Amino acid sequence: MNKIKNVFNLQKQYFNTHETLSYSFRMDALNKLRISIIKHADNLLEALDKDLGKHQHEAYMTEIGIVLKEISYMEKHLKKLMKRKRVKSPLTDFPSISFIMPHPYGTVLIISPWNYPVNLSLAPLVGAIAAGNTAIIKPSEFSVNTSKAIEELIKDAYEDKYVCVIQGDKEVTQELLENKFNYIFFTGSTNVGKIIMEKASKFLTPVSLELGGKSPVIVDKTANIEVSAKRIAFGKFLNSGQTCIAPDYLLVHEDIKDRLVNGLKKSIEEFYGDKPIDSEHYSTIINEKHFNRLSAYLKNGEIIYGGDISVTKRKIGPTLITPIDNNLPIMTEEIFGPLLPIVTFNDMKEVVDFINNRPNPLALYLFTEDKKIESKVLTECQFGGGCINDTVVHIASDYLPFGGVGESGMGHYHGQSSFKTFTHYKSILKKATWFDLKIRYAPFTKTKSNIIKKFLK
Ligand code: NAD
Repeated sequence: MNKIKNVFNLQKQYFNTHETLSYSFRMDALNKLRISIIKHADNLLEALDKDLGKHQHEAYMTEIGIVLKEISYMEKHLKKLMKRKRVKSPLTDFPSISFIMPHPYGTVLIISPWNYPVNLSLAPLVGAIAAGNTAIIKPSEFSVNTSKAIEELIKDAYEDKYVCVIQGDKEVTQELLENKFNYIFFTGSTNVGKIIMEKASKFLTPVSLELGGKSPVIVDKTANIEVSAKRIAFGKFLNSGQTCIAPDYLLVHEDIKDRLVNGLKKSIEEFYGDKPIDSEHYSTIINEKHFNRLSAYLKNGEIIYGGDISVTKRKIGPTLITPIDNNLPIMTEEIFGPLLPIVTFNDMKEVVDFINNRPNPLALYLFTEDKKIESKVLTECQFGGGCINDTVVHIASDYLPFGGVGESGMGHYHGQSSFKTFTHYKSILKKATWFDLKIRYAPFTKTKSNIIKKFLK
């Protein structure tokens, strides 16, 4: 029997022993994950540097630290999250009590991408094990070193029958998907998300799809320009723009464009110096394929700032660019790199139409001090989530469910949403036997019908 089938069957059998269900087992599993992450932290940091040139500070802030924080949240709230919730019973069901009982799905599959490989493999795992499931993780084949380091830390913490990492490319993923998982949690591109959902439909397996897309950042003329510039540059050039919720393109009011562009240049130089491609604080592009794809985008517009590339370092400098045409790939495809196209507007209605006429973004960022504009954008635009007067940071809150809508995905996680995602809620009505209301039973007399009509209206 091959490894996939073998591990899958082992996990199914293990789940059926019910060992993963108790509070103490789940707490112990969370603690084992924390211990193993801390033990392997140096390996993870080294691997992230090799794969993406991530600075240790950034790697801790956006990957390791996020997972540890997620574990702490779960440990603090698990007892309450696992509790049955009493709800009312209808009078027609007298005498009874009703409750909602959280129960794990069973054996879950977590498929992750290469851009935040630690975070996007292990943060969902925290939810999966807190909810009482067993899990198989399939990390990306492109972040080779980090995927290997993740496998080592998981092997150190758990037996294969409980949590296991399977390495491989899309063929391996397709083979995994031939098995009847009880839940699939996928993070990756919209196109692959469609394939995952199609495969999952064969077994009616529920899915979370954490996808990508083009996330706009809007800067209105009332915005605090200096702070906006700093926060946009932070969110855009973090991990060299290879962030699912990075601002993809910028819509700025015509009157303040020049001041904002100057602010952006200043912030870039403050963060990475005058030659960002030489900075150790600035990440590399994951591979040659993406490097070439991004380099080609440089021809889709007029470069306002940046545009320098280093083939040997596989780096592209932070770039501000005016697109020649909104139908070119830089304005139609997810950029997923350090190029920020800048488009001007005069009127907020234009902005709302521009966004709503495109696929639903994963994130939207609005910089404004005007409450009316804030309300207009929040109520009229469809998108996954976002920030007012900041970028990216909403993803790091335990209290905000994170996820997309439409083309940017379905489902939510982080904090209690992670627990809920990996949990099925059984609704139970428990009836006493000392009394048995006759009106529902045949024969259906006129009196019984009249009583039913009184109750059911
Ligand atoms: P991807 O969709 O190419 O790959 C993701 C995973 O799917 C990998 O593990 C890969 O091996 C597997 N895969 C690839 N092709 C497959 C196929 N045909 N069949 C089955 N499995 C397949 O994505 P990526 O390039 O690794 O990551 C970038 C994308 O992920 C971007 O679109 C980005 O926006 C998105 N993303 C989303 C989030 C989020 O939280 N919403 C986070 C990070 C990245």
